[in-house]
Amino acid sequence: MKKMECDVAVVALGLSGLANAIAAAEQGLSVIGFEKMRITGGAANMGMGPCAIESRVQKQKQLTLTREEAFMQHMNYTHWSVDARLVHDYYWKTADTIDWLMDMGVNFEVAPYFPMAYWTAHNVIPDDGGKPGPRGASTMVRRMTERAEQMGVQMMFECPVKKILMEDGKAVGILAIDANGEEIECRAKAVSICTGGIGDNYEMKKEITGRDGSEGENFAQVPGLKGDGLRMAWEAGVGRSPVLAEFNVGIHDNFNHWILEGAYRTKAELMVNLDGERFMNEEMSQMGTFCGNQILRQKGHVAFEIIDSDRVKYQMKHGPELLDEVHGSDFFEHFFEAADAAMQEPDYANKYFFKTDSIEELADLAGINKENLVKTIEEYNNACDHGYDDILCKSRRYMNPVRKPPFYTMKMILQETSNAGGILTDRRMRCLTQEGDIVPGLYACGTDANGLYGTAYNFYIPGNHMGFALNSGRIAAEAMAEYILG
Ligand SMILES: Cc1cc2nc3c(=O)[nH]c(=O)nc-3n(C[C@H](O)[C@H](O)[C@H](O)COP(=O)(O)OP(=O)(O)OC[C@H]3O[C@@H](n4cnc5c(N)ncnc54)[C@H](O)[C@@H]3O)c2cc1C
Repeated sequence: MKKMECDVAVVALGLSGLANAIAAAEQGLSVIGFEKMRITGGAANMGMGPCAIESRVQKQKQLTLTREEAFMQHMNYTHWSVDARLVHDYYWKTADTIDWLMDMGVNFEVAPYFPMAYWTAHNVIPDDGGKPGPRGASTMVRRMTERAEQMGVQMMFECPVKKILMEDGKAVGILAIDANGEEIECRAKAVSICTGGIGDNYEMKKEITGRDGSEGENFAQVPGLKGDGLRMAWEAGVGRSPVLAEFNVGIHDNFNHWILEGAYRTKAELMVNLDGERFMNEEMSQMGTFCGNQILRQKGHVAFEIIDSDRVKYQMKHGPELLDEVHGSDFFEHFFEAADAAMQEPDYANKYFFKTDSIEELADLAGINKENLVKTIEEYNNACDHGYDDILCKSRRYMNPVRKPPFYTMKMILQETSNAGGILTDRRMRCLTQEGDIVPGLYACGTDANGLYGTAYNFYIPGNHMGFALNSGRIAAEAMAEYILG
């Protein structure tokens, strides 16, 4: 068995682990990070960027959201069911974390994800000078990895941690297996667990949340996120915190139907269930989690979003009514080509995507209650003509009739997006027993410990997942330094 020694052993070098490792090294501590994969960054490599409030990027844009406003919105959103002091410390640190990252050479563009959201997402401007968007945050991961190297953090790759070593109730190190299969015992004064949650472990999800993701399609299944951190923490005597099983709305095989996803996902077009009835104010679907929650309530966990030809042409000319940060603004320009291509795919046409000359034909092909659907369309068109939705209170600006064939309809499905939480900590990210006592030397950061949201991700303040990963890593490092250095 190989022996190692350091002040801080960081279990995993995803986003929170990197932040924790760098911040601990900046405190003058010797740090070794153990990462299961060959690369750093975990799920963050796929994302856009973190949340921050009162950052210099926001100030340059004359954006005025204050930490106090964000704090109150967040706490009211969660019905004050989460740790208010942690929410405070997190939001109060976010602006400084943007400075910290900018000093490493990371650049940001601030954005909301959609009209109803606050401008808190600090999307990373990618290295190649491209537009911020999906995978842009991999540039932030690269800069952080360089900073970790510069600070002397030793990074062990393909080196999964198997166990937290405990002595007299204190964490004193970890056991890992290196790339050659040799066991490593690393003695450390403090250990942080940063393994990114349970997104890739169906059994554990089912056991903990009662949901295994089979109602929808799994978007959070980032390989390697097996819940190792939760298991190891619990084995070490740490308490359990609730795990959020978050659903969102999406379309089947989205990466191969990106233009159609842009046109339908989280948009305000007419949406019905299998009974042919509306069930939500469609403009609220821009909050993907709200739409996911509603679709979860519907028969078969599906819905159908219908756009008529006039509406497609209008949006081709004037741009999409509802923008979102992921898809940009030009997706309607190629809508007809994308729709025709989808209709050529035997496994997609008339199963997930429909182009029909009548509403009755749509009902037959999609299995929607025909009588109800015809009635709903009449009722909805009438409401659009009067600019008033007496049933679900949709705003006039989003009310557009469905009259002109052909009709383009997408089956909207559930996407499972995140499973945050599981390890009980205090607001300094120190692990706690179920009784609330501190487990000395043991910390948890990022998704493993993210209990920020209560029952639904707070999309009104976008970027919270990465924001929490970064800031909890930094908060833990400060607590570790105090524990080790006194
Ligand atoms: C497609 C996609 C897009 C996203 N976009 C955004 C966004 O724009 N903004 C936002 O705020 N959030 C976004 N998120 C969420 C965000 O990426 C995560 O919340 C964040 O990366 C969590 O950080 P973490 O450190 O907890 O986990 P991760 O960054 O996932 O890191 C976990 C690490 O743990 C490693 N690991 C696991 N087990 C072990 C073990 N036993 N030993 C050693 N290593 C181990 C993994 O290999 C991985 O590297 C997105 C997520 C996805 C999937």
